[in-house]
Amino acid sequence: MQLTTVTLLYLIVAAAVLGGIRLLSSPRYARWGNILAAVAILAAIILVMAQNQLLTVGSVLIALAIGSVVGAALAIQVKMIQMPQLVALLNGCGGAASALIALGEASGPLGAGAVPVSTFGVTGLAVAVGSFTLSGSLVASGKLHGVLNEQAVMLPKHSWVTVVVLGALAIYWAVGAVLQPGGLWLYTLILLPVAVILGVIVTIRIGGADMPVVITFLNAASGLAAAFCGFVTENALLVAGGAMVGASGVLLSHKMCRAMNRSLLSVFLGFVKLAPDQIGEGKSREGTGTDKANANALSVDVLRNATEIIIVPGYGMAVSQAQFKVWELAQALEARGARVRFAIHPVAGRMPGHMNVLLAEAGVPYEKLFEMDAINEEFRTTDVGLVIGACDVVNPAANTVSGTPISGMPVLKVYEAKQVVICKRTRSPGYSGVENPLFYDDEVLFLPGDATQMLEMLLEGVAGQKEPGTDEGEA
Ligand code: NAP
Repeated sequence: MQLTTVTLLYLIVAAAVLGGIRLLSSPRYARWGNILAAVAILAAIILVMAQNQLLTVGSVLIALAIGSVVGAALAIQVKMIQMPQLVALLNGCGGAASALIALGEASGPLGAGAVPVSTFGVTGLAVAVGSFTLSGSLVASGKLHGVLNEQAVMLPKHSWVTVVVLGALAIYWAVGAVLQPGGLWLYTLILLPVAVILGVIVTIRIGGADMPVVITFLNAASGLAAAFCGFVTENALLVAGGAMVGASGVLLSHKMCRAMNRSLLSVFLGFVKLAPDQIGEGKSREGTGTDKANANALSVDVLRNATEIIIVPGYGMAVSQAQFKVWELAQALEARGARVRFAIHPVAGRMPGHMNVLLAEAGVPYEKLFEMDAINEEFRTTDVGLVIGACDVVNPAANTVSGTPISGMPVLKVYEAKQVVICKRTRSPGYSGVENPLFYDDEVLFLPGDATQMLEMLLEGVAGQKEPGTDEGEA
């Protein structure tokens, strides 16, 4: 194969991946975008194999079959609610693949002869960043899955430990590449465990609400590792693909940091920790948190009379798979002449874009979804703010209580709406562990129960099949 033909094919594949990513931004075409990007990646694998005559056709087919079966089994078995931990795990797999390829190169012909400093450096980066991504992603995935402590786990002088391990890794990476003691293979073998330890140290301290930043950061790191790996193997396509993933991860990290009102440094080194004595201080003094006897009927009533409604979905909507009922209710309300919009907090749910994906799955048009900055000032002129399984993203304590994991995070100002209706099983806090005073406010209509069931009740009432005031089972 001519190099020019290969370069052209690489360009086409890279453009197809970019096109796929572009289509992902529209719910209508996202499925096609996914297929296009997947086909492009498959083409990339075949292209690289063919160009380098790496394996026989038979072994490629066997590898593809094994990978496809594992991937399909995961996709079928993993529930929608487990998607965030799967995404974290896949980031880790990307990092592991880059580290393994770089290690393979270092142990083979590349490491045998005289190696330029730049090759040392970039191979070391591929191994270090890949290993860091793997261990960090495993911890993040374990936390999201609930098999590891979701709260921040702090070692004594954790920030200093992080700085020392990072410093040691950086110094060895630079000095080792220049002095080259023991050759490339030993160099990468020393970097590997230190980077693994760093990944664990950095991610175990993440608790409360900083997890989105970490996931997007690990996403960027997996892309960077792939790009470094592309330099090691002199593969332009891998460099391009890794750079695309790395750049999108960096952009997302920036967005998440802005959403949390934090800097990357404060997330990884910062002195954000649970302050048990302060948690709960945001609880309203006046509110009793007592369930209203006729909350169901009142909620139906305010919804029936509302003309402006903003729905705020949160992680509980995902747990309850309530997105379909939410959309049904929204349509019923619109049929009565109300304007219904959805307010999406950037860190709602458990992965970036979590709410958008679920609502798109239910068929909610994209034009009805509004980002926090675009809609936050509109709550004060809204008749009803309807909260579905959200806690942290509507917690006013984020801006009234200091020292909590969400202190300083901008939240959706649902509390400014004329009436607030909340569908949630209990008044207990969400992911950050910070009490939400809104749930105790006597003016708020709190509907204790599973989101889907509560929405069914509201839908029946709004659609007029059930007269308000005939609540069953209310105190
Ligand atoms: P949240 O603060 O975690 O609150 C979700 C609430 O859903 C829970 O308090 C839970 O309360 C309720 N819930 C669970 N199952 C339910 C059901 N079947 N029906 C009704 N409610 C149910 O969620 P959020 O407001 O969306 O905020 C997201 C949080 O996760 C933020 O702190 C964010 O930083 C963090 N996070 C985000 C990402 C990301 O990338 N978006 C990643 C990791 C972490 P009950 O049990 O009382 O019902």
